[in-house]
Parts: sequence; structure tokens; C-alpha cells
Amino acid sequence: MMNAQVLFPVNVPGAFDYRVPAEMSVQRGDFVFAPIGKQMKLGVVWDIVEDDGTRTLKDIAGIKAAQPLSVDMLKFAAWTSAYNCVSLGLVLRMIIRSYKALDPSPVVTQFSPSGILPAKMSPARNAILELGGPFPARASEIAQRAGVSAGVVRSFEKAGGMTAQSLAVDRPFDLPVSDYGGMDLTPAQKNASDDLIYQVAQRDFNVSLLDGVTGSGKTEVYFEAIAEALKDGGQALVLVPEIALTQASMSRFKSRFGVEPAPWHSQLPDAQRRRVWREAAQGRAKLVVGARSALYLPFPKLRLIVVDEEHDTSYKQEEGVIYNARDMAVVRAKIAKHSVILASATPSLESLVNARTGRYAHVILPERPGAVTLPDINLVDLKDHAPEKGDYISMPLIEAMNTVLTRGEQAMLYLNRRGYAPLIICRNCGEKLKSPDTDSWLVEHRTTGRAMCHQTGFSMRMPKACPECKAEETLVPVGPGVERVAEEAARHFPEAKIEIFSSDTSGNPADIAARMARMEQGEIDILVGTQMVVKGHNFPHLTFVGVVDGDLSLAGGDPRAGERTYQTLVQVAGRAGRADKPGHALIQTHQPEHEALAALEAGDRERFISAELALREALLLPPYGKLAAIIISGPDKAKAEAFAKKTVSLAPRAEGVEILGPSEPPIGRLRGMYRRRILVQSEDSVNLSKYMRTWRGRIKVPNKYKLHIDIDPQSFM
Ligand code: ADP
Repeated sequence: MMNAQVLFPVNVPGAFDYRVPAEMSVQRGDFVFAPIGKQMKLGVVWDIVEDDGTRTLKDIAGIKAAQPLSVDMLKFAAWTSAYNCVSLGLVLRMIIRSYKALDPSPVVTQFSPSGILPAKMSPARNAILELGGPFPARASEIAQRAGVSAGVVRSFEKAGGMTAQSLAVDRPFDLPVSDYGGMDLTPAQKNASDDLIYQVAQRDFNVSLLDGVTGSGKTEVYFEAIAEALKDGGQALVLVPEIALTQASMSRFKSRFGVEPAPWHSQLPDAQRRRVWREAAQGRAKLVVGARSALYLPFPKLRLIVVDEEHDTSYKQEEGVIYNARDMAVVRAKIAKHSVILASATPSLESLVNARTGRYAHVILPERPGAVTLPDINLVDLKDHAPEKGDYISMPLIEAMNTVLTRGEQAMLYLNRRGYAPLIICRNCGEKLKSPDTDSWLVEHRTTGRAMCHQTGFSMRMPKACPECKAEETLVPVGPGVERVAEEAARHFPEAKIEIFSSDTSGNPADIAARMARMEQGEIDILVGTQMVVKGHNFPHLTFVGVVDGDLSLAGGDPRAGERTYQTLVQVAGRAGRADKPGHALIQTHQPEHEALAALEAGDRERFISAELALREALLLPPYGKLAAIIISGPDKAKAEAFAKKTVSLAPRAEGVEILGPSEPPIGRLRGMYRRRILVQSEDSVNLSKYMRTWRGRIKVPNKYKLHIDIDPQSFM
């Protein structure tokens, strides 16, 4: 007798056993219906096992006619679940992102002229024929265009003047053309692309680190590897940070492959999601460009995953199933035996070490194509160049902006802080405005006249009086946000066209595209931006970048703070001088002696990397040691603390593992829930995921409390 283990896409640790009726034939990965309690649920056949028939089991009720998940996909799900210590059912739920995609596309009836003129014509029928296309089209569309009623279209069809056909609503994606377009590569680019093509042509597991300075043409180079992957029906996936998924980047694919790729991200409308998922699962969408969750699309013929800007923190999913898409991309490739390209101008230290020890191929692009040079980077020591009282832009930045604006070029000011001021304080009583249920200051947003919590999205009208002492007109903004910097810039350059680019000013893709186009065409003189400006934009007339606070990301308890600062500042500075005019960047800092900043000024990446790696090695931090975190939260402060302590007491004893905490994180209360963090640090040889799973198995989470495990945490808030 045969039993099937069926996994359901819900928060359960594993699959349930069912009997396979004698007349039914199922295989691993099939979508099936099976009863749970009184309900019939859709699940996936996880495994098929021999059974002696002694247990009474319920029957599988039926098989869904849908493309089964491949055995590789099941293995990938199992790996994701085990490594990240999350339930297998939740991983399955993350894979099945569209139930409708399991069914065939819905169909619509579309009409086109038949070429036959019925005996009885009318002005309305003539109006349809005079349209000239595009056909076939829905009755309602034709009616609207011709200014007639939809009934006219249908009766015209009955009379023989039009033909009707049923067409799928979800059209397949046009096929990319491998040799459609592209640039003449420089010799260095050609070498790099040959190396990558060679790797992809192996049709086996391998990882390449494409390590090229900003603007070196990494995209053009990995396009060649994609072309190799697409040969004889292969599929390729390009992962990009979510905010890099712009129309401009899609157009680059179109110039190279003749068609836009299938897009995937968390905000995709349902119909699009259904279409992309189904086409990817059927192996028909050949080229998908998406944010991190695209990694869990069930491609059957994947040959290559490109992780662009592989150092980017947005590859880490911090909620629900906590995983790092960059690391899981390598796992997926290993299981399905194909290539991965990790591309960055500032690779993570983890990837660099893997490249240096030979686990990854190291493909280097040392310069920008043609005569384009990298920007000069200099530090502005704020001890020597203090801005005017109450101001944030120092004289050297003002002078540099003046120089480029006089030449008719553009300047950018970078500050990774939304709003006008990060803190609102009462000068009468000293009260700081706080979020109501979260340990976070309210941020003043002057454009909207509101005070906002950036952790939860809570916002209220900027109060006129202090909520504590009730004194009026005493609330003052403390510190700068982009709005305040823009205001200051406008004071210095009253004639200049200044725009702010942050998630508050630019929400939707159309707005971002419009702003980017204005910048590209030189309609903006000074762009003041948050991290939204860092990624993937090419502004040919931008020649100066001023960093308002180079120390901002050095604060806090993140062991990667130095690395992040270095990466961000290289990327920000790299926006300058990307075309024929040379670029320059100035970074304001109170810590010019910090390794990350000093190495930036010296233009010496190696110096920063060796210093940082030595530090990590000494402290047993990644990539020389491992980290994991447990985050506990609950409605009562004392109970959350007690539960956290109890959790620590249940930790398995093991050689080479150290447990730190519990401690109160920087955000001790979030949406009314009290939080505690436990940090686990281990030697590299320890299987930390396994250790965490064993530990998790001993913990019973009280009602209303939550416990999350975060393997290799990137955020320490
Ligand atoms: P990266 O991804 O390394 O930052 P991009 O691929 O975005 O670099 O290229 C930077 C700019 O240089 C783009 O505008 C691109 O079109 C241009 N470019 C790249 N390679 C070439 C080349 N061989 N010839 C001319 N322009 C190039």
C-alpha cells in the first residue's frame, strides 16, 4: 500500500499522512486535495512511502490539474525551513504566492472583422470597420473606440461580419532574444563576460562574484551570462533590491533582449502575480526580474540567478519567514545544479572571503568604460569646518556646489533621514515627542505638517502646544532630515531648482520615473535624497555628491556598521561623474580617523577590508564566526523578560557557542509589544541552525507571546 505525506501551506512543522486510493497515481510535488478535520484543503505531496496498512488514514480526495512542484523545489523548501528554523508549511505558503496561478488562465471572447460584409450594414457597423484595429479586442473595447454599444459588436458577429475567438487573459511573455542588442564591450568587460559565460555553460553549480567599481558596466556584463543561460529554453532570474525595480532598469533589459522581462515584487497586482507565477512555473517566462521573493518562484528550467547589488540589506526578509535571499540563492543553485552571479561594487565581506578562498570565482572589473573615471572622495572634518549655528551644510560643500552649479552641472546632497527633523523637543519642559505605543521618537515632517513614527507609520498633526506642559509654540525641531537640508540649500542657492527624493516624496513607480527623468534631463539642480538615490540610477550631469552626515550609520550595535557605512558611501559617491565629466564627493564627518572613512578618502578598499576582516576574525564575527538571534515579544514587560530568561535557561550546552542576553533592544517596545533579544554567537565549525532548532524544540511559547529566530541577523533593532 502507498501513503502520501501531504504538506499544507499553513504554519505546521511537517507533512501529514494520507492513503493513496488504489485507482489514483500521485507523485512528489503534485498538488492534491485532502481532508483536514471537516475541511478539504489544498496541499502538496511531500513524499510517498510504503505502508503496511495497519493505520487507519484518510484518503487523498483528488489531484489538482496543475504543474507539480519539482523535487528540487521541494528540497529547496526543506533546506530553507531547516536552515532558517521556520516551519515547512510557512515556506510552502511563501512558494504558492498565487492560488489562481494553479488554474489555467481565465479566457475572454475577443472579436475581429471577418472580412465578410453582411447584407445589412449600419453606420454603427461601419464605424467598427473604420477603426482599423488593433484586433482582436473585447467587445467593450471595440464599442468604446467606435462609439457604439457592445451589443452592436455581438450582433455584427452573429451576422457574420466579425469572428469571435476565446483568448487567454494572461498572455505568455514575449521570448527574449539572446543577440537582440547590446553594447560593444571593452576588453576588460569582454574578459569578465567570457568568464561568466564559461561558468553558466558548465550547467552545474558554481558561484561567481562580479566585483566591479560603480559604473563599470556590471549590468552589461551579466547580460551576456543571461544570454548563455537562455540558450535552448533555459530560464534566468535577476534579483534586484526592491527600489531598483524601476522602468529605467526594465528598459535596459529591453534594449538588450528585445523584450521587457517578467517583473516580480511584493506590490504586484493579483492578475499580474497570477500570470508571472504561472508562466514561470510552466517554464515559459524565460527572464524574470524581481525583488527577493522571486527566488521562491517554482522555475523548472532555471540556469542562472543574478543577485545584483548583492551586499544590499533588502535581500534579508525580516518578517514572517526570515531569510536572506542572497544566501538562499546559492542554496537553490546548489540543489538544482546551476550558476549564481553575485554582483556588486562593494561586495559583502562574506562573499569576498568566499571569492578569495576559491569557493566563488572572482570576476573583477577595475574601471569604468572609456575615459570615465571614478569620483574623488574627500572628507570634511566637522571639527575644522563647523557649519553656521543651526545649520548642517559646511562651507566646503557650499563652495563645491557653487562650482558645479556655475558650470551648469548638478549636485546631490545625501542624508539617510526622512522628514524635517528626527526629534521634536519642548524647549520649556524638555519633553521629547514619542510614538504612543513604540519606543521611538516622532519625526517632524514639515511638507505634510505631521509628526510621524517611522517604525510603525503612526502619524498625527504637528501639535501647537507641548503635550506634556501645554506651553504653546515651544516645540522645536532637533537635527536634520532631508527637508531641512533642502531648506538650507535653498537659502544658499535661491535660484536653484531643488527637489527631495525619499520614500515620502516618491511612492509610486510612475512618480519615481518622472523625478528620475527630470534629474537625467538636467531639470533639477540639487537633488536632496535618502538611500532611495543610492541604487542603480545614472545621472549624466551629476558631478558633485555631498554627504551631510557620514557618521550616521556608524552608530548602534550592528557589527557590520563599518562595512555598511563604507558600502553606502562608495555607492552614493559613485553616482557622481558617471558620464564624460569627472565627479567629486565630499563627506562631512566627526570621525575622519574611522577606518571606513579614512579608507574611502585614500581610495583604498583593500585597506578597509583587511582592517575589518582582522577585527571580525579577532571577535569571531561573520564570516569567521556565526550569529543568530532570538527575538521575543509580548504584551507584558515583566513576563516578556521572564520568558526571555526562561528561554536562555533552556539553551543546549555546546562547545563553541556563547549566548548573550536577554537584553532590551534599541526599540524595546513596538506596537505595544515589549521586546527582548538574545544573541547567539558561535565558532564557524558549529552547525548553528541545528543548534537553534534543538533549542527551539525545548521552548513552549506562552499565549500572546512571540518568538522569532533570526539566522545571521542583519538588523539589531
Ligand atoms: P554598474 O552596474 O557597474 O554600475 P552599468 O552597467 O550601470 O554599471 O553601466 C554604467 C554606465 O556605463 C551605463 O550607462 C552603461 O550604459 C554604460 N556602459 C557600460 N558599458 C559600456 C560600454 N562598453 N560602452 C559604452 N557604455 C557603457
